Amino acid sequence: MSTTEQAPVTAEVLVSFDPATGEPIGEYPIDAPEQVQRVVGTARVAAEFWAGQPFSARRTALLRWASYLTGHAEEFTALIQRENGKPVDDAFLELTLALGHIDWAARHGERALASRRERPGLLMANFAATVEWRPLGVVGVIGPWNYPVYTPTGSIAYALIAGNTVVFKPSEYTTGIGNYFAAAFALANPELPQGILETVNGYGATGAALVTAGVDKVAFTGSTATGKKIMAAAADSLTPVLLECGGKDAAIVAGDADVAAAARDIAWGAFANSGQTCVGVERVYVVKSIRDQFVSELRKNLDGVRAGSDPGADYGPMTMPGQLEVVRRHIEDALRDGGTAVVGGPDSVRAPFIDPVVLLDVDEQSPAVQEETFGPTLTVRSVADVDEAVALANGTRFGLASTVYSKRHGLEIARRLRAGATSINAVLAFGAISSLPFGGVGESGIGRIHGQEGLREFARPHALARQRFAIPGMALLTFERTAATMAIVRSAVRTLYGNKH
Ligand code: NAD
Repeated sequence: MSTTEQAPVTAEVLVSFDPATGEPIGEYPIDAPEQVQRVVGTARVAAEFWAGQPFSARRTALLRWASYLTGHAEEFTALIQRENGKPVDDAFLELTLALGHIDWAARHGERALASRRERPGLLMANFAATVEWRPLGVVGVIGPWNYPVYTPTGSIAYALIAGNTVVFKPSEYTTGIGNYFAAAFALANPELPQGILETVNGYGATGAALVTAGVDKVAFTGSTATGKKIMAAAADSLTPVLLECGGKDAAIVAGDADVAAAARDIAWGAFANSGQTCVGVERVYVVKSIRDQFVSELRKNLDGVRAGSDPGADYGPMTMPGQLEVVRRHIEDALRDGGTAVVGGPDSVRAPFIDPVVLLDVDEQSPAVQEETFGPTLTVRSVADVDEAVALANGTRFGLASTVYSKRHGLEIARRLRAGATSINAVLAFGAISSLPFGGVGESGIGRIHGQEGLREFARPHALARQRFAIPGMALLTFERTAATMAIVRSAVRTLYGNKH
């Protein structure tokens, strides 16, 4: 099935497909820019109500949402399986992670966004200094299709608990999932007014309309190319953006690693979800003394692992048909650029499925090593030592996440990696720990979801300086200031900052 075959039947209707069979499974009216504006308007009205609710009320609403989704998990995961293509157990794991984040945000929002008193300093001793956190207003969330529930949850739940309302534009490939997820919030909270969590549907144009519809922040998860367009469009109104973009994550396997465990975990971290994981392992740098052992263990772990849509398959089809060509091209690039296929090869691509492909010692400048593949392929390169591994791991324009296997030096190596997160002696673990911030550096994005940092992405600090009493003769910030006042200030400055070294 080609991308063109999946184009909408009419300009106004988006058709969603089962990626394994190409069968249409749902139709959704496309929201034109005027409709997007209207929905943002509804969310704007609701924002005043929602921001005025105490944390306890917002927490209850989020927990009810999680509880509703838990009660409907079988129905929801069947829909995720059908529209996204991943095995139903993987869909359940994705939902589990999303529920964890809704729950964490609900329970920690109040503390992370609590106001705090600050010391005013000697010259302002008559002031009380406080920082309070305010909601931003309406947050536009634009999501991808690969983890259509987990990824937007990191923005939606955190924005909601902070007192914002949300307008969510799910990926055109997972519109049914996105709408089910958002509708569940209203179904779980029938007493709340409409507009707290709304969806708008469509292709890129609907997302672009949301960016310029007057929202107070855009939280985007998707490709780096789209992230750049969103940032450029948002610049016109200085609308802040949170960008969770692509990656080319590396794993380092040091000489003292548990090689069997590293190979077992990396096999899953690279190939689960058909490699369509933003923080999936795409490159491995393994110290040469253990390279052969690692490759042999990796092959053992991948023996019999295959794509398919039957219950025995380890992962599903490529969700987005266009991605098949990118993966095919990267396999060809790798083989042209000095690589050897030690698992699978060009024949592993049998649309819409791709079986695992492992490529050994590909030139570092090859697109297969430098560009995000987002498919079930993995490059493995042997390196002289950890220093070389770190240099190569840091050698792309991305910096999303990373993995280190070393029994004794894991933390030390991790600290040298230019990435937003690192998992040590495990893969992808940071994503399942709700309190850890998640996001990238370089072309992997700007800002953080999850954890305290993620909560603060959706609130603005409001600095309050309240004069508690006036100090006679010290009206520093008025025209009544006298020479005597300045003499006191000069003396205080000498005491405070002079002769300190
Ligand atoms: P994409 O950029 O093609 O689309 C993402 C969303 O943006 C979709 O909803 C799409 O309709 C919308 N969109 C497209 N053009 C737009 C525009 N001009 N303005 C506003 N919105 C627009 O990405 P995708 O193919 O859906 O997702 C795969 C990518 O997402 C991969 O690069 C992957 O690494 C990345 N991703 C990143 C994370 C992360 O947390 N960093 C998580 C998941 C996926």
